[in-house]
Amino acid sequence: MNTGFTEPAKKHLGQNFLHEKGVIEKIVQAIDPRPGDVIVEIGPGQGALTFPLLKKHGELTAIEFDRDLHAPLQAAAHEHGTLHLIEGDVLGVDFTALAAQRGDGRGQIRLVGNLPYNLSSPILFHALDHAAAIRDMHFMLQKEVVERMAAGPGSKVYGRLSVMLQAYCAVTPLFVVPPGAFRPAPKVDSAVVRLVPKPAERIEVRDRAMFANVVRAAFGQRRKTLRNALNGVADAAAIEAAGLRADARAEQVEVAGFVRLANLLPGA
Ligand code: SAM
Repeated sequence: MNTGFTEPAKKHLGQNFLHEKGVIEKIVQAIDPRPGDVIVEIGPGQGALTFPLLKKHGELTAIEFDRDLHAPLQAAAHEHGTLHLIEGDVLGVDFTALAAQRGDGRGQIRLVGNLPYNLSSPILFHALDHAAAIRDMHFMLQKEVVERMAAGPGSKVYGRLSVMLQAYCAVTPLFVVPPGAFRPAPKVDSAVVRLVPKPAERIEVRDRAMFANVVRAAFGQRRKTLRNALNGVADAAAIEAAGLRADARAEQVEVAGFVRLANLLPGA
């Protein structure tokens, strides 16, 4: 069958195309599109998720960087529904403006995507910058990244990504996907995760830049005590005033502890 997608997968764009029907169905079920939802897909590729979502929902916005895929995507989308294709880099897309323009009744979008794994952290941080405009996110990522996102204090993989995401979102790992579900098969297991941004009144961070700075410094040298790792950012008195031990390590501190500390530093 000629699908119009003739180019081989491009490794530098993180192209591992999903082909396993059962996995695709599970993702669509997890997203559970409802009338009125505005769904935005990152990296539609050859349409593995795009076309089933279009069939179910009728309309979709998708952002694809690879120009070789634009024409075949548009051509193949016609029979399934209305595809609004944004041709470019997702990191340049202002989700807040997109939601204001095309969002649902609450001015929000729902983000989905089997992400290019080489860009997963930048995409997650970009989405966080626009969290108020996003109702929820369903992403396929490397399983190890999903474990880091959902980890709690005391876990070896608890780190900056865990704290930054959990301060702003509820993070729920959904299911694991083996390499054989993709072509070409990646070397690692993958997993689907759901992120639901907290409503503004439940976000306790007062100064996002200060919070990001504290978390970055604390985990920059994760084997060091907070007193040493936060040198120049927060002194022992501030650390203790936040109810934390200056000789603790970042990996032992819960998300709320970092929030308390950042909130009492000058500039907050
Ligand atoms: N959704 C398809 C699937 O599940 O088979 C493709 C997933 S593939 C892992 C990632 C997709 O993201 C590719 O189509 C790739 O071209 C696209 N991509 C890579 N970098 C991108 C960027 N900066 N902005 C938008 N799309 C990008």
